[in-house]
Amino acid sequence: MTYSYTQISQYLRCPRSYRHRYLDGWREKDTRAAMVFGRCFEKALAAFFLHEDSAAVLSKEWGVYRDTPLEYKRSDSWDQLYHQGVQLLEQFARDNRIRVRQPRQNLQIKLLHPLPDDSNFVAYIDGIGELDGARCLLEWKTTTSRYPEEPTGLLALDPQLVCYSWISGISEVALVVFVRKRVPEIQYLRTTITEEQRREFGQLVEETAGRIGAGQFLPHSGIRFPQNGCVSCPFLGLCLVSPQLIETKLIRVPGASDLDWLDQLDD
Ligand code: SF4
Repeated sequence: MTYSYTQISQYLRCPRSYRHRYLDGWREKDTRAAMVFGRCFEKALAAFFLHEDSAAVLSKEWGVYRDTPLEYKRSDSWDQLYHQGVQLLEQFARDNRIRVRQPRQNLQIKLLHPLPDDSNFVAYIDGIGELDGARCLLEWKTTTSRYPEEPTGLLALDPQLVCYSWISGISEVALVVFVRKRVPEIQYLRTTITEEQRREFGQLVEETAGRIGAGQFLPHSGIRFPQNGCVSCPFLGLCLVSPQLIETKLIRVPGASDLDWLDQLDD
């Protein structure tokens, strides 16, 4: 069994959703434009570090989806996302704050950590490089809203950064947030993950993997207003036994659990 950050966090959010996704093979349909665009944008970023024409790579990758019926947010369109992406790439080049030496080795780095019972934890780290000259682990995000910078220290609680710090052993981490808005913005956020946080995260992973191995999949529905996680859960149709919701949101992929670790690439 190979676990990833996405699997562990999905189990912690709701064990029943883990069962729907990873044991029964239900997957959300890949139709969210923002998510598809995010993957194309990360390929363009990789091209930037390889001294290739990143705007051309974005145009090629995102161009594949020009006529695909994706779900766009109200104010979004294919053209809008493309132009925002190009502006963000230009801004990133002008800022010139991130360095990645030997990009072929230091981008999309696969790391494995052995767990008890012959299982593994896998993570794909976006990069290891420098922010303003200081070495750190790098994580990219494309989003439509700014990452909150208050209260001070909040970023150190980001579970994905804690996870990547744990598996890499690197305490200095940076989140580069590409904010798609009317005037695009890039946030360069840095924090330090402590040894204790890494140790506790390792314990959390082992404990969670143990509960998954023991077949514990009780639902945590979070149905109480206004923190209603079920409303945004792709598996709501399964829990409500609604064929129409299932048809709209999900596809079933037999044998998908063999490739679960690939989810890591979607983060
Ligand atoms: S709809 Fe609610 S109970 Fe069902 S899997 Fe999703 S979060 Fe869990």
